[in-house]
This record gives sequence, structure tokens and C-alpha cells, in this order.
Amino acid sequence: MSIVTRFAPSPTGYLHLGHAHAALFAHGRAREAGGRFLLRLEDIDPGRCRPEYADAILDDLAWLGLTWDGPVRVQSHHLPEYAAALDRLAARGLLYPCFCTRADIMREISLSAGAPHAPDGTPVYPGLCRGLSEDERQSRIAAGTPYALRLDMAAATAAAPHPLHFEEAGAQHRCRPERFGDVVLARKDAPASYHLCVTHDDAVQGITLVTRGEDLRPATDLHRLLQALLGWPAPCYAHHPLLTDASGRRLAKRDGVATLRDLRASGVTPAEVWQQAEKGRRGAPPLDPAGARRPQTP
Ligand code: GLU
Repeated sequence: MSIVTRFAPSPTGYLHLGHAHAALFAHGRAREAGGRFLLRLEDIDPGRCRPEYADAILDDLAWLGLTWDGPVRVQSHHLPEYAAALDRLAARGLLYPCFCTRADIMREISLSAGAPHAPDGTPVYPGLCRGLSEDERQSRIAAGTPYALRLDMAAATAAAPHPLHFEEAGAQHRCRPERFGDVVLARKDAPASYHLCVTHDDAVQGITLVTRGEDLRPATDLHRLLQALLGWPAPCYAHHPLLTDASGRRLAKRDGVATLRDLRASGVTPAEVWQQAEKGRRGAPPLDPAGARRPQTP
């Protein structure tokens, strides 16, 4: 079977060395196997994504010398497909509307000592809206109260084969999606969530090897559950280490890490970025746009 990988950035800012590493990792795994490398823009969050970042991503990847096969998939162009997937889950009674505000949830959580947290660090939803009657739901919807759609995790895990596993490096890993609780699959302010869209798109794009940072490994449990519920194939996974700065902190936009644009403007070449992305994986300090920390060539 031919390998199909993808790079799936969210256009919420400019790419930095961490993204370059992720893109090169996915690209490399496809190209070394004579497979296909696809590009997807995960722009489902209207509040955070900007078209200028999407354009800049394509430009930066081309500058790096990456080529992708076929058209770029842009999630915001496919909203009816995500709605159809949500409808299928709803028809099986696996979704419910949640009218809670963040404050409602936090208040409830503060009342219960030792409230559980999901593997991504967020508090598990305490289930306030799970038990609302159908009449109550309909009257709140009719009154225009904004709502999200949550997966009823207990019903979902009962409806899927158990236990589920995902495959990574030839080994089977047992999934425990229940640790996430009733996750949001359609937000109040966005028509579908990351978890739904990424799983849907990996299926429709025929991705056979999902490569991404190891911070997303726990989410894979949830993605396997959605794949099982919706009858989508199970790709293999390769979670790579995240690049860190000199103090061991993960490279992040919010810390003002140098973007590929900054590096390019300061005369850094794509070959140096490739090299640094590879070295960075082993803990080397990232390139600095001002050149101050740029490795000196002997
Ligand atoms: N859009 C996600 C991100 O930028 C990547 C998701 C994935 O690779 O599964 O973090």
C-alpha cells in the first residue's frame, strides 16, 4: 500500500521552525517511500484563522522547497461535509446540545473537589446539559440560546468496538477516549471542532500515515473512536518529538519564536532551516532571526 501523509497547519499565525520540522517530517516519510504528501489548511476557527496566514503558509512551504500532491484542502470550503458527519452521530443519539458557558462549567467544577482533567489538560465536562429533557433542549434552542454539540462519551464508547487500538511503529496502542469525557464536536462559534474535522479529512484524503507532534498523541484515542463510529479507515500514526528552545520549552508563537519569514528575511537559507529542524529535534537551540544565535560556520 502506498503511503499518503499530510501536513495540516492552522492559519492562525506564521510558520516557525517547529512547523518546518513537522512539515519536513511528513514530507520525508512520504517521499522516501515513493508515496504522496498532501497539504491541508485547518481553518475551521473563524475567530483565529486569517487568509493572509494561509497565503503565507503556502509561500513559506514553497520557499522551503516542499512540493505537495493535488490541490490544498481548505477546511472552511467543506462545512456541509462536517455537518453531515455530525448528523450521522446525532441520528444515533450520540450528540447532545450543550448550552453551558465557560463560567457555568468552571463554577460546577469548583464545587466538586478533584474534578478530572482530560489528557490535554482541560477539565472534563461535568455533564450539566447531558440530562436535559428533549422539551427543555428544544425550548432553549427556540429561545436562541447558543449551544455547542457534545459527544455523549458513554453512549459513544458503548456503540463502538471495545477496546480500540491505534497503530504506531508497528505496535498497537490501546485507546482510552473516555478520559476526554463529553468532548465538543461543534462549537458555539465554529461549525465543527478540530477532532471531527481532522478525522473526517484524514479519511476523505486517504491518509494512511498521520504524522504530527507527540502533544497530540492522546487525541489519537478520540480520533480512533470517531473513525470507528463513522466507519472511516484507521490510518497508522507517527507522533514526532516537538522542537524546543534552548531552555527546553516547546517552540510557540506566543513566546515570540522566530518565524520562517523572519529567518528568511535575515538571510537564512532553506537548507539551513532543514538542517536546524533536524538538529532541533535533538535539542539544538533554534535559529534566531537577528543572527545572534545563528550557528557560525567554521
Ligand atoms: N491543525 C493542527 C495544528 O496546527 C494539526 C492537527 C494534526 O496534525 O492532526 O496543530
